[in-house]
Amino acid sequence: MSAEKTPCSDVLSEVWLFLDSECDPGRRETLRQHLDECSPCLAQYGLYEQLKVLLARKCGGDQAPDEFRERVRASIRETVIQHRGGHVEVVSTSAPVEGQRDD
Ligand SMILES: [Zn+2]
Repeated sequence: MSAEKTPCSDVLSEVWLFLDSECDPGRRETLRQHLDECSPCLAQYGLYEQLKVLLARKCGGDQAPDEFRERVRASIRETVIQHRGGHVEVVSTSAPVEGQRDD
């Protein structure tokens, strides 16, 4: 077994892919193992999962509007930056606001 450890920043940038099953099985396993051992990353994963549920609920289906997806991704990036700052805190205040519609 390699002792090589995946950096948290790598894991966090790929957790979204992990959730969407967009990465290959080997990579999935690497990320899953990291999440198993790293509670800050696991907390981030939980936040992403909540956002995914929010997306699904808001759009009533599997296809979210690109613009909305972008906003979610942007808020995720903010969270990742906070993680890189050293102290990890799950912050969801920048997540999209419920009830905001364009039509
Ligand atoms: Zn980590």
